[in-house]
Amino acid sequence: MKKILSLEELENSTNKTLYFTFDEKIEGIDCVTPIYADLCAKSLGDFVEISGNVKGKVLLECDLCLDKFEYELDFELDELFSKDSLLGDYEEAGQEFEIKEGQFVTDLNGEKEIDIYDLLYQSVILSFPNKKVCGINCKGREYLTEEDSITDPRLEVFNNLQINPKNS
Ligand SMILES: [Zn+2]
Repeated sequence: MKKILSLEELENSTNKTLYFTFDEKIEGIDCVTPIYADLCAKSLGDFVEISGNVKGKVLLECDLCLDKFEYELDFELDELFSKDSLLGDYEEAGQEFEIKEGQFVTDLNGEKEIDIYDLLYQSVILSFPNKKVCGINCKGREYLTEEDSITDPRLEVFNNLQINPKNS
């Protein structure tokens, strides 16, 4: 269980590679279960790569009906950090930029540790779907109230039907 990764420890480890796990609820995220991550950190010259699988269960709010629903996390994390600033002294640490399409690098700007807790917080938030819907049957709150107040004249015929089970 690791919350902070020390770059010095990483440099001194075998093959400059560290395996570690994270297993904790994250503040700011509605966790049903602790967030579990099986991670590997590698020092690659000027960069540090952290990759691995993240699992857990969180509560999200449905965009349509506003009810909370359980959402299962299971995604691959793959983050690159640059040990020294790539953009010069004017940039602040922790900034993220794209070195090529789809490959983002977080600038450590000389910082000697990586905040694993924060990394997981950011990754979990980013893994949420753009459209949060509780299920395929969700019709949404507005739609439901609309439907309740409108009576379809075609359905009124059913009100007059007499169902007699003895006839069958
Ligand atoms: Zn819903």
